[in-house]
Amino acid sequence: MAVLGIDIGGTKIAAGVVDADARVLETAVVPTRACEGYATSYAQLKSVIDKLLRDGVTAIGICAPGPLNPKTGVVINPPNLPGWVNIPLAEQISKEFQLPCRVENDANAAGLAEWRFGAARGYSTVFYVTVSTGIGTGIILDGKIHHGKNGQAGEGGHVTIDYRSSSICGCGLPGCIEALASGPAIARRAGMPPEEVGRAAACGDPRAIEMLDETALMLGAWLGSAISLLDPDIIVIGGGVAQIGEPLFSRLRRITPERSINQFAAETPIVPAALGAQVGILGAACTVL
Ligand code: ADP
Repeated sequence: MAVLGIDIGGTKIAAGVVDADARVLETAVVPTRACEGYATSYAQLKSVIDKLLRDGVTAIGICAPGPLNPKTGVVINPPNLPGWVNIPLAEQISKEFQLPCRVENDANAAGLAEWRFGAARGYSTVFYVTVSTGIGTGIILDGKIHHGKNGQAGEGGHVTIDYRSSSICGCGLPGCIEALASGPAIARRAGMPPEEVGRAAACGDPRAIEMLDETALMLGAWLGSAISLLDPDIIVIGGGVAQIGEPLFSRLRRITPERSINQFAAETPIVPAALGAQVGILGAACTVL
């Protein structure tokens, strides 16, 4: 048995045939051509499915940037996919290819994949975070994504840590953690890309260390609140910025418990994601496996 896992991003659509043991048997990538609008990027999606579809594939899982409704499979209006307004994607793909199809928010799907195949295997309450161009999160409870009433739960990147902040998030609100500690936000504050912050801090550069401390304080305050709210078994952090590695994680492990009412917070493991670049494909596949 195998399924197709498809990761629709603003730049590329990555897809893979995935079996029940998380083996990615074959992959294909096409450019999204998002700026050419819905008709073009939807045709790109269909072309990648055509490339990979074969006997034995029983379902299609798709992850895409939000906002979308995973319960209905409708893509609502993602900023990275212009023209994708209220598209009943799951229904369309299902009809077109005569297979069951699910559509899931990309961070939720990644969290599910880390729970099923990655760093959070064996844990029941998981807070998954990706610190990337944005900050996305997924809440996994007993092996299921927590969707909430309207399928909009788990938008942790848009939790404010400073309601009076002059940093306005892409969502329009001030002081979201995404507006303060995502890769581009770090670059803005530091005047250097986060890659450079990581490298220079490791070499003892005082300015880079200050920036890393500040970033870790923001993320730690936010993660401490997440622990107060969810009391998770584990926090898994992926995304480009997490590649700073131990200098970031050691700070987060120190600061986070100081920022939570939960007296067991220091025991909550804060670990790097394990699945790497294929997390989107695996996450999408997980939704239908
Ligand atoms: P995307 O947002 O497209 O999913 P990534 O998860 O790679 O892509 O996140 C991109 C962000 O991560 C950028 O802001 C980039 O500067 C930052 N980044 C990428 N690699 C590193 C690294 N090794 N150290 C620190 N930051 C990084």
